[in-house]
Amino acid sequence: MSPLFPALRTADEKEALRFGEHALSYAGLAGAAGALAGRIAGAGRVAVWATPTLETAVGVVAALLAGVPAVPLNPKTGERELAHILADSAPTAVLAAPGDLLPPALAALTRIDVDPKAGPEPLPAEPGDGESPALIVYTSGTTGPPKGAVLPRRAVSGTLDALAEVWAWTPDDVLVHALPLFHVHGLILGVLGPLRRGGSVRHLGRFSVEGVARELAAGATMLFGVPTMYHRIAESLDTDRELAKALAGARLLVSGSAALPVHDHRRIAAATGRTVIERYGMTETLMNTSVRVDGEPRPGTVGVPLPGVELRLADESDGIGEIQVRGPNLFSGYLNRPDATAAAFTEDGWFRTGDMASLDADGYVRIVGRKATDLIKSGGYKIGAGEIENALLDHPGVREAAVTGEPDADLGERIVAWVVPADPQSPPTPEELAGHVAAQLSPHKRPRTVRFLEALPRNDMGKIMKRALGNGNG
Ligand code: ATP
Ligand code: MG
Repeated sequence: MSPLFPALRTADEKEALRFGEHALSYAGLAGAAGALAGRIAGAGRVAVWATPTLETAVGVVAALLAGVPAVPLNPKTGERELAHILADSAPTAVLAAPGDLLPPALAALTRIDVDPKAGPEPLPAEPGDGESPALIVYTSGTTGPPKGAVLPRRAVSGTLDALAEVWAWTPDDVLVHALPLFHVHGLILGVLGPLRRGGSVRHLGRFSVEGVARELAAGATMLFGVPTMYHRIAESLDTDRELAKALAGARLLVSGSAALPVHDHRRIAAATGRTVIERYGMTETLMNTSVRVDGEPRPGTVGVPLPGVELRLADESDGIGEIQVRGPNLFSGYLNRPDATAAAFTEDGWFRTGDMASLDADGYVRIVGRKATDLIKSGGYKIGAGEIENALLDHPGVREAAVTGEPDADLGERIVAWVVPADPQSPPTPEELAGHVAAQLSPHKRPRTVRFLEALPRNDMGKIMKRALGNGNG
């Protein structure tokens, strides 16, 4: 396999990475990552204390250059979960930024402080075998305890090259980044993607609407975000003309990790003239589908299968089936979980995503939701939580909404809406919301129960944790 980062081998003074005040050119990154790669060569696996810093990016690139599998750790992980991940992935060392305070769970590992000023050092030859593991990334833990997905080098290069094609991603692109670096979205797409293209990343440290507007106005060309970020952007657009101008000037606005509500799609398009592009992927498969930059935007869909990815719907009824995929983007298996790995694949080698969808006539994929939590069987109908959530969000009295199913003697399952009202002093009535959904969709899709909350439980990617809502469906 050819090198993952060709631009590091012809390293020049072009800016590769910037985190706040700290920046590295390609030459600087090649020096620092090359030096660190030399220090960790031969280690079995290294953990990376994945704060949103230059050190994390240098650490992961060094591990990839050295051919040492990297395990990014979420620094906010609780003690129990961290102990589980460490026992599961068994790293010998942990890469951290000097000054990072590491929890006791990491005390047994050799600590290696990442020095972004090290080098220059000749780069090692990368492993030639595409099947050799590049990263072990833990799933987001939305539906259960996180599982370690072993990601081979060819999956990383395969997914990034497919995205480059459909997004027309070039070395001139500058990405605005504000996501954490321990999941696929923020790490593989957001850091390794631009580096593979020879482009640049500007990380905000933490997300703010002002930071995004500032970087786009200063010449950044693309934004990768999760729906909660685009929601905040949509809210600010009502009053912020500068933000609208900055977004209108961007080449590419991409959303993923969860469904972007159609309501936010529309608000952003109305204020900026730009359509957010949605892509769909998961830790185990990296990216599966995307709307193409040269294709027709279609809010409410996640576009079409990426080049090289095969996609089918299994056990289809009423036009809805489980998405199954095959392609060079797939992981090699869950770490230490042969049973879970075997269960995740069909006999003929397709990966079961657990996500339910329908297909438009021309192949655009419409995700209905997760099989386990988002598909409600009520009164003989199969109903997707997502479309009801979209309808609720269209009501002016609703700020946030999640829909679940609960056991019901009469209906099998009853549709329950969890609503964060726009104005807690005068929330809409349950009858009003049920009527609104019935009028927008159809009567059998109306919520039978409405529960008001101050906020929805979300994980660090802004994904709604439906199991924390006492969902009786899965
Ligand atoms: P866990 O597997 O631990 O329960 P998780 O599935 O949330 O957590 P990830 O691998 O980070 O962990 O997320 C992948 C899932 O995110 C997909 O299976 C899908 O349900 C959802 N997803 C990703 N992108 C989109 C999108 N554009 N629209 C809707 N859902 C999406
Ligand atoms: Mg999952």
